[in-house]
Amino acid sequence: MLTRRDVLKLGGADGSVLFVRGRAQPSAANTLHKPVGEHPLICPYCATGCGMIAAAQEGKLVNLEGDPDHPINRGQLCSKGEAARGFVESPYRMTKTLYRAPGSDSWEEKPIDWMIREIAKRIKETRDKYWIRQDDDGYVVNRTEAIAFLGGSSNGNEECYMFIKFARALGLNYIEHQARICHSSTVPALGESFGRGAMTNHPIDFKNADVILIEGGNPAEQHPLTFKWIMEAKDRGAKVIVVDPRFNRSASRADVFAQIRVGTDIAFMGGMIHYILENGLYDEYYVKNYTNATLLVDPEFKTATDLDGLFSGYNPTPDNPNEKGVYDRSTWKYQIGEDGYAKRDLTMTDPHSVFQLLKRQYSRYTLPMVSKITGIPEAKLKQIYELFGSTGKVDRVGTITYAMGATQHSYGTQHIRAYAVVQLLLGNIGRAGGGVNALRGHSNVQGSTDHALLYHILPGYMPVPDRKFPTLQSYLEAKTPKRLLPNAPNWWENLPKYFVSQLKAWWPDVDPQISYHYLAKLGPHVGGKPDGSSDYSHHALLHAALAGVLKGMIAVGQNPAMSAANVNMARKALDSLEWLVVLDPFETETAAHWKRPGVDPKNVGTEVFFIPTPVWAEKTGSITNTGLWAQWYEKAAEAPAGTVDEMYFFTKLVEELKKLYAEGGAFPEPIVNLSWPEWSEEQAVAWAKEINGFDLTTGKQVASFTKLKDDGTTAAGNWLYSGSWTEAGNMMARRDSKTDHPAHIGIYPNWAWCWPVNRRIRYNRASVWFDSGQPRDEKRWVIRWNAELEKWEGDVPDGGWKPGTVLPFIMKSDGLGHLFALGLKDGPFPEHYEPWESAVLNPFGQQNDPVCKVWHFKDLDVYGDPKDYPIIATTYRLTEHWHTGMMSRNVPWLLELQPDPFVEVGAELAKQLGIANGEWVLVESARGAVEAVAIVTPRIQPLKIEDEKGARVVHQVGIPWHWGYMGGGARPESAGNALTPSVHDPNCFIPETKAMLVRLKKLDKPPKKIDLNYGVKG
Ligand code: SF4
Repeated sequence: MLTRRDVLKLGGADGSVLFVRGRAQPSAANTLHKPVGEHPLICPYCATGCGMIAAAQEGKLVNLEGDPDHPINRGQLCSKGEAARGFVESPYRMTKTLYRAPGSDSWEEKPIDWMIREIAKRIKETRDKYWIRQDDDGYVVNRTEAIAFLGGSSNGNEECYMFIKFARALGLNYIEHQARICHSSTVPALGESFGRGAMTNHPIDFKNADVILIEGGNPAEQHPLTFKWIMEAKDRGAKVIVVDPRFNRSASRADVFAQIRVGTDIAFMGGMIHYILENGLYDEYYVKNYTNATLLVDPEFKTATDLDGLFSGYNPTPDNPNEKGVYDRSTWKYQIGEDGYAKRDLTMTDPHSVFQLLKRQYSRYTLPMVSKITGIPEAKLKQIYELFGSTGKVDRVGTITYAMGATQHSYGTQHIRAYAVVQLLLGNIGRAGGGVNALRGHSNVQGSTDHALLYHILPGYMPVPDRKFPTLQSYLEAKTPKRLLPNAPNWWENLPKYFVSQLKAWWPDVDPQISYHYLAKLGPHVGGKPDGSSDYSHHALLHAALAGVLKGMIAVGQNPAMSAANVNMARKALDSLEWLVVLDPFETETAAHWKRPGVDPKNVGTEVFFIPTPVWAEKTGSITNTGLWAQWYEKAAEAPAGTVDEMYFFTKLVEELKKLYAEGGAFPEPIVNLSWPEWSEEQAVAWAKEINGFDLTTGKQVASFTKLKDDGTTAAGNWLYSGSWTEAGNMMARRDSKTDHPAHIGIYPNWAWCWPVNRRIRYNRASVWFDSGQPRDEKRWVIRWNAELEKWEGDVPDGGWKPGTVLPFIMKSDGLGHLFALGLKDGPFPEHYEPWESAVLNPFGQQNDPVCKVWHFKDLDVYGDPKDYPIIATTYRLTEHWHTGMMSRNVPWLLELQPDPFVEVGAELAKQLGIANGEWVLVESARGAVEAVAIVTPRIQPLKIEDEKGARVVHQVGIPWHWGYMGGGARPESAGNALTPSVHDPNCFIPETKAMLVRLKKLDKPPKKIDLNYGVKG
């Protein structure tokens, strides 16, 4: 007889045992059984990218199970993946197109044709009325600040590409999606360090590591099938270290666990950098040859050791009222020689060399100091530093993996940078089993980022033109970087080819010199609202609505009424819109914001259009997993009658807009001349081919981005994906999971396709000896030079040049990994700062990130004092739930596993507050409150810390953030983001949703559940 616990174990609820169901053995030929209607799918939840096989008859799913041929999950699924059929068959799926008039208390059912016509009218009226041809300073900017596009990282690549083409053609600047609020700090951190802002390796690669440091993530619960590969390494003898505020399920399988005070990870990593340098644990060959340690920095540059936590150039009085300060970064640069290249000292003894500056920067991060800040005992710190530092040898390798616990801080970018600095010192980048491995949350948040649903980039990470560049020529000249070392490949020299090809993909019949003007230009907001800056990011967007600048919004698969930091502010922002279009399979809190608890619909003037959409199993396309594998999935089931496919909706909307603009309007050309395929069931194929790119003279698909040109004869929607759909066919649909690398490192090159150019381990030329091209680690070699055949073997090399010629970090203009960062706003080296809300004083002087952004909108953006809110809090996710809960609380099986919001409270704190296990409590911050069940646990222990106020104990609590006022398990006060602050990292504007101050109070009785009030159900 199985106990409930046994069943939970089988479901992966303890993070250790996963479902293995159905066809556990790989099929003989990796083929699909079409006669019984089998279709390949990729799991719609986390970005591990597990394969599924769906069987359908007469358009209905009859089975959904793990794909036994898939190289990552090999037939297994975690509890969410296993329940995914319940997502398709959820009783809460919406099937009617609904309209809510301003002030109304109910939805009205409307035909889709009427909805599309009305939405097109709203877009045109708003765009025309608030069109900005010239800004306050006279620059031509061709944009509107009155319309926003939001979403959708659960959509496929082809949909995301379609969204961005639509939004850019309208001239929007407010274009954002989930990546801004989850991993946006990863992109500048890894981009600045290595050249590309994405995971360096891939999920299977964890099996190759000797030491795995998990910090700021919890893959046993959030990425269970990625964790499987960490366990595979452990079975082989690897050591697993977990550093986290809670003893979580990853920690339960670790060899070493350290409980850290929330938000002090840079101090922890700074201590590791100090330890590695002091004890000579770094890989000297790698540091000298492959990092910028040898380069000389401007003699005027000062580290944070010299200036009490600040770097040289600080100005505490910026123009922007929401910024705390601003740096003049003119000393954060290399010394340039007469030959025009950066100066280098190969001995690394020059006091201005990056290596010596690094030593100086981290000289304060001693074991006693780090222990006082983090609360981790010195002996434990030493144990971890020794263990991870042991990977600085060629026959040892270590990896660091993380997720939101690392990214969502006011200094999140620098946090990830600290990982990069450690891994560069230890020579762990470019190697099998190494890397800095960002674990992405949404199934396609990598792809949606690649396709640039973000205000500041275009697909393929090209910068959006700024108002300062009035012509294509001036933009390309300014944005194409100059080489800083003679043997640096400086791949971004190719920017003109990619940029012009993108313009030709969008407006093929228009000269690129002209279509350049079709792109909205970045620059300060006109009229100074919401804060006069050039920030159009997620939080700025919401503040623009509050300030009356933003009038209309289209949200696809995104739920800001739950996912934004400080949701009480975000919900008011939605109330301030004139119109809102929501496309989603479920009636989200965003769609229903006007009828939320405590609000009288009469007082909300927002007109809302709700379009119910199919779910992933009812569509075809590709999604890109956290390891950058673009994987094709096939429509398995028919969507319920009444749902509206996103491609159909946007195609018809564009047709309607083209019709309206043919009759005139503000700057009609970008819309009228926009290329757009006709609607068909196969439209995803047309988009995929456009993304890959083709030769306009022959009509043939290009084989890779090396075929793209800047003369207007090629078109490619996203250069990074060139090679994904070539003349040889759809590379993303490949299913060979038997062919591996000769060293069996698990790269499976013929399974799906990986950007760029199907390379599976980025920066892999740093894994070989520079002159010979032979692997430094023979056992786990990634690439090697075959001198006889004069070619590289193994993975696709990161640059195919001969050994001894060019440096390995090809996207950097110096070809080197960056210990010293040149392009960040808050410092060339990571420095420890306290979270904006903190109960502790920073012993290094400067309390907070000196250039972080702190919003102040009336009484909505407010901040707590430790006297009133003495407890440190963090938020996190559960295995059984999914972000804002729409894709899991609406799945009855998952809701049953985790029905109620809860807060984890340490036993000592619970005793102090008189709270017993299972009692309901109120968790309050300065901004809002959550009613939750107290789980009194030894998993969170009190921490001993010390600052100017003396040695003392601090308490922390942890809160999952999935519950809201709509969907299964709805409760009035349950959103974790009601507690979080409106504070941002200065580099990427990610909010600090992982650190805040709260207080706890026992509730007399459980709060009421909400009587579900779903729209007009059929
Ligand atoms: S949620 Fe993630 S780990 Fe779980 S089955 Fe889906 S892709 Fe795999």
